Amino acid sequence: MNEPRYGLIEAGGTKFVLGVADANGTILDRTRIPTLMPDETIGAMLEWFGARGAYSAIGLATFGPVELDPASPQWGHILKTAKPGWTGADLAGPLQRRFACPVIVDTDVNGAALAETTWGAGKGEQVVLYFTIGTGVGGGAVINGRTLRGKGHPEMGHFRLPRHPDDLNYAGKCPFHGDCVEGLTAGPAIFDRWGKTLSDLPPDHPAHDIISWYIAQLVVSMQAIFEPGKLILGGGVMATPGLIDRVREKAVKLGGGYFRSDASTMISAPGLGDNAGLMGAFALAQSAAPE
Ligand code: ZN
Repeated sequence: MNEPRYGLIEAGGTKFVLGVADANGTILDRTRIPTLMPDETIGAMLEWFGARGAYSAIGLATFGPVELDPASPQWGHILKTAKPGWTGADLAGPLQRRFACPVIVDTDVNGAALAETTWGAGKGEQVVLYFTIGTGVGGGAVINGRTLRGKGHPEMGHFRLPRHPDDLNYAGKCPFHGDCVEGLTAGPAIFDRWGKTLSDLPPDHPAHDIISWYIAQLVVSMQAIFEPGKLILGGGVMATPGLIDRVREKAVKLGGGYFRSDASTMISAPGLGDNAGLMGAFALAQSAAPE
């Protein structure tokens, strides 16, 4: 192999996006495959990469929960998940055995945070948070160039929030916590309460105020913990027209002028758009490359 080539995987709950990139991050080839049962999906992934040669490293940015501790026998496995069939699925092992190259695993949101820090909306910032608010809610962080990992990866989508006074009767949709961020603001929780997506509800519907208030509460909590340079909000729910502006306005008020960061400019849409996932995988793969 003359030039380094990287295998890229954005593993999601409904689809896997696969790509091959050169050393500059130029995507030479890409495809998407549906997320079926693990055997089928992992088999299709190995076949696609196998038909495209050898790799210097593979970056795997995946839905979670996933084991990130390289010392654990479960490294690169999906942990306990509500997604049928996927608990215990080994994503990284088959890649490592088949292609005999480093496989760098992180969460999809940590990968997106790393890509946004390197090339996108968070460029040049010391602390960048990335949230996706869609079918579920996940959050990742990059601090001084590294993704945040603790005992496991961050589970910021399960942060607890105060309740909106006009939303006290809803128990929340999270099977573990009820009314955590995901249980209150993800797509299924919105549909549960109002029978439509946020985008399909008229702009004067109270749901817009309630959901933007919860996300703004999340933002000011994250400001208190991290003082991020950028907090990036992506995902299907965040694509609702006007939502990010409502969040900005409320976060400024809720913050009371206390934080160093100004919520009106700190809150950002993703800079890399649809490429954030694959570029996250590229950023992970590249981190394995020799200096
Ligand atoms: Zn939860």
